Amino acid sequence: MNKQSIYGLTFDRLSSWLLEHGHKKGRAQQVWDWLYRRRVTDFSDMVDVNEDCINVLKEHFAIQTLQEHTKQESADGTIKFLFTLSDGNLIETVLMRHKYGLSVCVTTQVGCNIGCSFCASGLLKKDRDLSSGEIVEQIMNVQLHFDQVGKGERVSHIVVMGIGEPFDNFDNMVDFLEIVKDQKGLEIGPRHITVSTSGLADKIYEFADLKLQVNLAISLHAPNNELRTRIMKINRAIPLEKLMSAIDYYVEKSNRRITLEYILLRDVNDQKEHALELAQLIGDRRAYVNLIPYNPVDEHSQYQRSEEETVLAFYDTLKKNGINCGIRIEHGTDIDAACGQLRSKQIKEGQS
Ligand code: SF4
Repeated sequence: MNKQSIYGLTFDRLSSWLLEHGHKKGRAQQVWDWLYRRRVTDFSDMVDVNEDCINVLKEHFAIQTLQEHTKQESADGTIKFLFTLSDGNLIETVLMRHKYGLSVCVTTQVGCNIGCSFCASGLLKKDRDLSSGEIVEQIMNVQLHFDQVGKGERVSHIVVMGIGEPFDNFDNMVDFLEIVKDQKGLEIGPRHITVSTSGLADKIYEFADLKLQVNLAISLHAPNNELRTRIMKINRAIPLEKLMSAIDYYVEKSNRRITLEYILLRDVNDQKEHALELAQLIGDRRAYVNLIPYNPVDEHSQYQRSEEETVLAFYDTLKKNGINCGIRIEHGTDIDAACGQLRSKQIKEGQS
């Protein structure tokens, strides 16, 4: 049987586990330090931890359950990692270089059941949820890459926007957030973390009640129900009225603005009337609209990228109507940059 990843334990759970196995308080801090500050990849390298403790950890846990399968590096510094999980499944993790630091986009599920019509990942149905350890390990592997490069660079930001719907793997995703935020470990500030959801309203309420202080982004992509249902079938079950109420609750509870993601699809949702309708939908909510020029993928030939003038006109219309917005800068355009592209390409190659 595969051992579980040690990275899946929050600090409190590691402490109780060690106590249950006869190791006193204080041991957890040592182990935690070796994992997240000194970042060893073998329990035997935890030289000041006693041998009994090392042995019991080795018996029950693994440090590395992910294997690097492929790594593509873009001219702008974006790196796309493809990892093989212990069951042979493949997942993607992307590192983006920004002026403000290194940001990692993590995957939370193998495949996805939400089925957004523009998404390369949505074509591959969900096989399973990732464990919290497998999500944390993506961050650790990217950090280890930078440790090896040797310039002392640290992963400073996380976006939970890779393959999968994070709120459909809620408990593991929340444990992951707790682990990476832990001030004794990786210490990634909650304001440097963004979780993106297709809009599972019930989970937005639950998430708001946890008061984790991380940023929440909603994949909106359309200003009305008819169009949103065409683009994202999840809208049939959770229409905009329900979603907007959940958003209002999150903003009120967290006292933070919300980010609304809007992929611009040529002649589908990128016209002036759509921008005006979007501005009306948002009204005076504390929201930031992130306009994303579509990255065409072979699998979805019905969608094209909007013309640059159309993107700018959309932006201008929102601005003129008092909406806080920006146009997302693209990363890694010379590699398989769109979400899920590298993984689906590898799977297709494997099948042919
Ligand atoms: S965009 Fe996200 S939620 Fe939608 S199908 Fe793709 S991975 Fe799933």
